[in-house]
Amino acid sequence: VRVNFSIIQKETGIMNGLIVVLHDITEQEKIERERREFVANVSHELRTPLTTMRSYLEALTDGAWMDKDIAPQFLKVTQNETERMIRLVNDLLVLSKMDSKDYQLRKEWINFPKFLDHIIDRFEMAKEKNVHFSRDYLNEPILVEIDQDKITQVLDNIISNALKYSPSGGTITVKMVVFHDSLEVKISDQGVGIPKQNLHRIFDRFYRVDKARARHIGGTGLGLAIAKEMVEAHNGHIWATSIEGKGTTIHFTLPYDRDQGDDF
Ligand code: ADP
Repeated sequence: VRVNFSIIQKETGIMNGLIVVLHDITEQEKIERERREFVANVSHELRTPLTTMRSYLEALTDGAWMDKDIAPQFLKVTQNETERMIRLVNDLLVLSKMDSKDYQLRKEWINFPKFLDHIIDRFEMAKEKNVHFSRDYLNEPILVEIDQDKITQVLDNIISNALKYSPSGGTITVKMVVFHDSLEVKISDQGVGIPKQNLHRIFDRFYRVDKARARHIGGTGLGLAIAKEMVEAHNGHIWATSIEGKGTTIHFTLPYDRDQGDDF
């Protein structure tokens, strides 16, 4: 806490008052530090693909373009790095929109089990990997008022991580539990898991458990930070549980009013 004193004096010079202002600089300093770290992270994340591209483009201009075997490979690298930067900038735009004050959710009533089905169908159709999806929820109408696009992004981010870290032949289970005033969604995989001491940090912007591996897999480090912002904008919570070597579960809640949906 910073303390400012101002002495109020009459023209005659006699002191007749004192103003004391207390500033909570710890909070201000924390915001300022986080902002600096964020800018440093963004710069670093953009610099890595840019320097990679520069060296491949240099090699191409120095003659590699004439080599029929090497040239397509080098061009592919620059293409991948460009894609990575586009993903990063898109994620940053999503976060900056959510940070802005006039940000609003576009809520509508959704039948949640059907909505989950639709999202899982999409992943099953894409068949990116030999992974099986298991649906652990009843197929009866559960109406919730949510911003469909935002919660779709939350599920997309969580499920694509589950896919990335799943072994071939593994199962991803999507479970929904209905409580009195909330829904809990759990997405479990049978992947590498996350060490206990890192669990609470995976929702931080740019945090990755294993930097080299995560970057190789192609993430921006912002997926779960975005999911957290979106869940909290709905007054829900998000957290992770994991057993190393066995798998990870990402849990999130959404407010649910049993009686509200009855009118529909
Ligand atoms: P990224 O773009 O790197 O995937 P995220 O914010 O989505 O960024 O995730 C942050 C980090 O959390 C990842 O880099 C990874 O280390 C860890 N992580 C997230 N989901 C899982 C999972 N299902 N299994 C293991 N690790 C995970």
